[in-house]
Amino acid sequence: MQQYPNHGDDRNQGWCVYCGGLDETRDHVPSRVLLDEPLPENLPVVPACGKCNSSFSRDEEYLACLVECALTGSLATASNRARVGSILERSAGLAARLEAARYESGGQAGFSAETDRARNVLVKLARGHAAFEENEPQLGEPASVSFAPFTALSEQQRARFESATDPRGFWPEVGSRAMHRAVLGEIGPAGWVEVQANRYRYRVHPGGRTVHIVIAEYLAAEVMWE
Ligand SMILES: [Zn+2]
Repeated sequence: MQQYPNHGDDRNQGWCVYCGGLDETRDHVPSRVLLDEPLPENLPVVPACGKCNSSFSRDEEYLACLVECALTGSLATASNRARVGSILERSAGLAARLEAARYESGGQAGFSAETDRARNVLVKLARGHAAFEENEPQLGEPASVSFAPFTALSEQQRARFESATDPRGFWPEVGSRAMHRAVLGEIGPAGWVEVQANRYRYRVHPGGRTVHIVIAEYLAAEVMWE
């Protein structure tokens, strides 16, 4: 994917976009664990403090494994994805938790999600996308966080999720990366930025207060701030 310079104002520069702490390191957003090799060039990076940079990684691994398990029906089949296979191999505890979360209903396998952990990651990702695209750090608690597999959404819900425009929307900030993408026609239908096909896409509504995320074309998430 193309990278554009950030000529917006400097509200999201100089501190951690997740907690407002010190700008000590760079964090990829989305996290590499959610993508496949070879990684796309020029993955977005945001400033982060050392603590945030490392403290999300276990939950990110959990979410990456959960999505693959839910998508494929078992830990064995999820392990066919190289990244997930290596996590499950080295983390027996995580593998055991996922195995215990597996259930069958009507001949279909499912996995109960640890919603706090999934939420933790989705809010982090949304904060990173909002800061990167729109220069709008969202350090406060979101007003709402929703996520569900596409298979659980009605046709109408899916259509709204894919195409909805934020009623509070306005133009991207002048000079922001979102504006560069918009001007150059790089933002896809309805504003989606595709990081890696069939693996990860996101959309930040102008103003940065609503972020939509799709992982593995399976899990749909919406994070909103007031
Ligand atoms: Zn931080």
